[in-house]
Amino acid sequence: MTPKRKRIWDKTGGKCWYCGNDLPEKGWHADHVEPVIRVTELARKNPDCPDQAWKPEREREDNKVPACSKCNLYKSTHSVEEFRELLQRQVELARKASVNFRNAERFGLITVNGVKVTFYFETMESSHG
Ligand SMILES: [Zn+2]
Repeated sequence: MTPKRKRIWDKTGGKCWYCGNDLPEKGWHADHVEPVIRVTELARKNPDCPDQAWKPEREREDNKVPACSKCNLYKSTHSVEEFRELLQRQVELARKASVNFRNAERFGLITVNGVKVTFYFETMESSHG
């Protein structure tokens, strides 16, 4: 692990910033909290291109947190609050998409508990890191 990646890892002591699961030493992602949207080289050279949401100034270590690949890939280019909203809709989306979910719910095999999405970093002491 490079010294830079080690510093990012140490922000949580090796847990995912979002879900809190233990990260593997290999295969964890350094997530941009505020997304750096990457555009093509062509778009970068053309200031009139509509996709100029690339934010190179967010390419900073203090904007990077350790994340598991699942959270990082699902968060994609979303902000933290957009990611929270997306996660909060998972039950609704599963109910809509899955007959297995609906059957399991109808027969009481699963119960939706209405929990609000809390990220791991929100449970850490504010003095941490
Ligand atoms: Zn995660």
